[in-house]
Amino acid sequence: APRVSEHLLDGLNPQQRAAVEYRGPALLIVAGAGSGKTRVLTHRVASLIETKEAWPSQILAITFTNKAAAEMRERVEALLGEASGGMWISTFHSACVRILRREAEAIGLSKAFTIYDSADQRVILKRIIKDTSADTLGFTPAGAAAKISKLKNELADVESYARNANLDDPQEAMFLDIFRQYTRRLRDASALDFDDLIAETVYLFRAFPKVAALYQRRFRHILVDEYQDTNHAQYALIRELTRPVEPDVVAELETHGVRMRVLADDDGRIPGASLTVVGDSDQSIYAFRGADIRNIVEFERDYPGAKVVLLEQNYRSTQNILSAANAVIANNFDRKDKKLWTADGDGAKIVGYTGYSAHDEAQFIADEIDALHRSGVAYRDIAVFYRTNAQTRALEEIFVRSALPYRVVGGTKFYERAEIKDAMAYLIAVANPLDELALRRILNTPKRGIGPATETQLANFADENGMTFREAMRVASGLGLGPKVTAAITALAELLDEAAELADPAREGGPTKVADVLLHLMAGSGLLDTLRNSRDPQDETRAENVEELVAQTRDFDRENPGATLLDFLTQVSLVAAADEIDDESGTVSLMTLHTAKGLEYHAVFLTGIEEGLLPHQMSATEPGGPAEERRLFYVGITRARRRLYLSLAMSRAQFGEVSVAMPSRYLQEIPDELIDWRQSPGDATSRGGTRPRALNARQSREQQRRDRFSVASATKAKTEWTNRVTANVRDNGDLELEAGDRIRHADFGEGRVTQVTGIGAKRVAHVSFDTAGQKKLLIKIAPIEKL
Ligand code: ATP
Ligand code: MG
Repeated sequence: APRVSEHLLDGLNPQQRAAVEYRGPALLIVAGAGSGKTRVLTHRVASLIETKEAWPSQILAITFTNKAAAEMRERVEALLGEASGGMWISTFHSACVRILRREAEAIGLSKAFTIYDSADQRVILKRIIKDTSADTLGFTPAGAAAKISKLKNELADVESYARNANLDDPQEAMFLDIFRQYTRRLRDASALDFDDLIAETVYLFRAFPKVAALYQRRFRHILVDEYQDTNHAQYALIRELTRPVEPDVVAELETHGVRMRVLADDDGRIPGASLTVVGDSDQSIYAFRGADIRNIVEFERDYPGAKVVLLEQNYRSTQNILSAANAVIANNFDRKDKKLWTADGDGAKIVGYTGYSAHDEAQFIADEIDALHRSGVAYRDIAVFYRTNAQTRALEEIFVRSALPYRVVGGTKFYERAEIKDAMAYLIAVANPLDELALRRILNTPKRGIGPATETQLANFADENGMTFREAMRVASGLGLGPKVTAAITALAELLDEAAELADPAREGGPTKVADVLLHLMAGSGLLDTLRNSRDPQDETRAENVEELVAQTRDFDRENPGATLLDFLTQVSLVAAADEIDDESGTVSLMTLHTAKGLEYHAVFLTGIEEGLLPHQMSATEPGGPAEERRLFYVGITRARRRLYLSLAMSRAQFGEVSVAMPSRYLQEIPDELIDWRQSPGDATSRGGTRPRALNARQSREQQRRDRFSVASATKAKTEWTNRVTANVRDNGDLELEAGDRIRHADFGEGRVTQVTGIGAKRVAHVSFDTAGQKKLLIKIAPIEKL
């Protein structure tokens, strides 16, 4: 093989070099967290292009998030010193959307298919469950969605389910009915859910070998990051893409003018693409979504002759952090023993903290972040992880009060907000006239007097006449509805037709810009004005969000000249949670442990390390559940470069009730000498300086009695805290403050304002307190008065 130039190998250890330089059909890189797997993949891509072994267009690299894809592209281009157009670096989902947009018609799907997210899925399942009264058998939209997803990830469809189901069992028979109706509704709407994107591509390749051959011929080098989290459908997709093209297909395509022979060997066959996968079975955290750890374990069987490279040295974290990670993961059975190590030294001890409530825990975190920031750590290099979204409430409350800049990654995502979904539904209805879900969403949004009875009448009329919902809207005048309702429906149908004409890619002079199509729809429907003129204060924010959407379409138009409405919708439907991380903004990132995969931060706070949260109570009873939760903890620990904080609370409010929280069993697995436990302030029962007591199956009665006592004390603490907060809910919005003023704070006493920054509701006073030190306070809500 051609020599890889030294600058692409520089700064790599011998094993990493070997992995970059290896040439052969299959390469598996297995290694622990932070050992440079992603880095090796990146250098390997660059080396293939630099040596001219591959054109950029012959490379397909699969990453876990769109953000990771963008980073890898940037790195590759930096290594090569030039842009590498034509290279596909993307997630499984994005790659499949690109393929399906081109080839949809082969499998009887419109190129303009809509992609349904989980919220859309729920709406449809809710309707189906209501229609079939399946709720009486205990079916819920979420439960049915999970089951359908699981089946699709195993490449099962309605027919195969029907063959294997026991239809004498009312549950299974009912589920079959739901699954069948769900599939039909998506088909009728020319829509695919997320799992379909992968499954339909596999189906396309299997059913149409000539279509598959085009991609097998094109992608000569396929590389997959985070392979341990691939599910069966994704595994099958890679399998299809790496198959050789058989001589008869080569010959046939050649007669159609596709140049194939140049790539064929002496037997007339095009050999399968070379495949590189990297992964770490200790970081497999998506079994609940069908990820199959066996994909990595059995790689050598599936790709005989595969080369395996092991990486051992960790370049991310300190030895203390790695020792904790090693100690925790060693408790999982059925794994290859491997230990992370670094040449970088022990570093600081891990800091442990037990708060008496979630708010106390959050306050500790806010204070530590403030201290880190003062010592020169940028906010964007600090992250707080948690197991469940509900945990953000306490953190956000305290962060706001402490005026810490933060950002919740993947919380209520922008595109999941109701008003954004409404505006998007207008665009979707224009792009895909078959999409009944979108049409029904906007039918009476904003309110135009079209009630549910009319909606049903339209739907039935469409059904009975074998027409689409949209067509039924166009002929609404013949339905004998009231004149006002008829006029409203006709006006909406006309508005959509006008917009469709504007957005038509075949339009003379090119399609109208997406922003202008959206503005046309907003003006015609009155959606934006209705929000602007509403008396509901929340509608003001909603209007701002819709305006933000307009701004986003403007950006899109500018960045993608000539792109169509469909291109925009495709991009939006593929934005993954981790994509919202914005490295440039100087904010602390808050995210779930699942979102944290593959990322790294100078300082990491792992919160809520309690039984019931980690391991999560839902997983405790599932086979393999606690082991997967342990891997999740391991993923969290290994994100930290220099500083790691583990925190928990002694009581936690859930579902409006305060209950005793027990330290997680995983805490016990970390050797004592690695953690520096800090005392919990103001809590009499705290054992400052020692580890918190871990849950023990043989808990004595005495212990249980003490726990009841702690419930009482926790409840008391909670009440005290609530009183304090409610006392603090005030509005100092008008308080005039400037540098030099003296103030009194309810907790910190007297101090002098050194600086005032920010504007409006976000004004922050920097205060030097006489005894409490430096603090930053959000003026609007801080319990302060001017002296
Ligand atoms: P994860 O399992 O968490 O995805 P990973 O194995 O993909 O981790 P990388 O993210 O590629 O690890 O690397 C971890 C960190 O170590 C990165 O900051 C990377 O730049 C750095 N790194 C990797 N290899 C080396 C090396 N040989 N010399 C110096 N730094 C390195
Ligand atoms: Mg990685």
